[in-house]
Amino acid sequence: MLATTTFKGLLAAGIAVFLTCILSAPLQAHDVQIAAADVKKMPLVNVTPSVYVIHGMVALPTNENKAFINNPGFVVTPSGVVVIDPGSSTGVGEILLDHIRSVTDKPVVAIINTHVHGDHWFGNHAVRKAYPEVPIYAHENAIERILNGEDQAWLSLFMRMAPTAMQGTQIVRPDHGLKGGEALELGGETFNILYPVQKAHTDSDIMIEVPGEQTLFLGDVVMNQRAFGNRPHESQFSGIEEAIGIALERPNIKHYVPGHGKIGGREMVANFLSLVSTLRASVKKYYDAGQADFEMRDKVLSELDAYRDWYGFDNLGRTISFVYLEVEMDDF
Ligand SMILES: [Zn+2]
Ligand SMILES: [Zn+2]
Repeated sequence: MLATTTFKGLLAAGIAVFLTCILSAPLQAHDVQIAAADVKKMPLVNVTPSVYVIHGMVALPTNENKAFINNPGFVVTPSGVVVIDPGSSTGVGEILLDHIRSVTDKPVVAIINTHVHGDHWFGNHAVRKAYPEVPIYAHENAIERILNGEDQAWLSLFMRMAPTAMQGTQIVRPDHGLKGGEALELGGETFNILYPVQKAHTDSDIMIEVPGEQTLFLGDVVMNQRAFGNRPHESQFSGIEEAIGIALERPNIKHYVPGHGKIGGREMVANFLSLVSTLRASVKKYYDAGQADFEMRDKVLSELDAYRDWYGFDNLGRTISFVYLEVEMDDF
């Protein structure tokens, strides 16, 4: 009982930090554009003849953007459709299903969720409504955390931020646990499940390689034109750097799908890697010179000037404290 209470307390504290961060973040130019966007018309991007992605808004969930803030994707295999991260709400999942039906009449045969964060898996509900037997895969750490209360915590958070957009969304948890290293045969296509490090963006990140389509789904290990998420306390920045290095070493991959921001090639991934490695090296340099995190903040930010236009840059000051803690831990 005590353990449960403590865990719920920690969850509440985490959410409070998240909300504080959101509420104190200045309105960025991106947000204004996003509010005016017609989410229904967001185009389906044909990555390869069989791989499709919809670019979600690089934003926090709001009613105006229909909480459409991740990149739902799908692969049309010889005998069915495999969905990866069907979105942040039932409504987003339904938009995705409309797009799937516009390109194929094959059924959805599997869903894969890249990690524990609700913006990637609340859309499971829409797909399960249409395909009640569909298996939903995720890393076993994601399933454990979701079962331990993070499902409700995420849903409550999103209901507060975008109540209209989240209307009707029910929790449909992933139910097929993965460890990483599996080669799943789904609909006649091979999906390699990579779990490159124990902790990167979270402790539950899988990357999904579709070798037949030369495509790698990166989850939130990589974001394009976005400086991390709002939960640096869950991340291990050395792990993010290592995981991206492994992603770039996979043979024959041409198409990389980040969790947020536009798809791209190696250059997009290398650009994000450069943000991570510059941030880590800069914090280490000033740590070695005996500076505290608040003393190095402005100098580190000036070394990251190339990323100033990225969404979330204003939150990087807070991220520096977490990177600092990692550097300090490595020093012991
Ligand atoms: Zn995430
Ligand atoms: Zn995300």
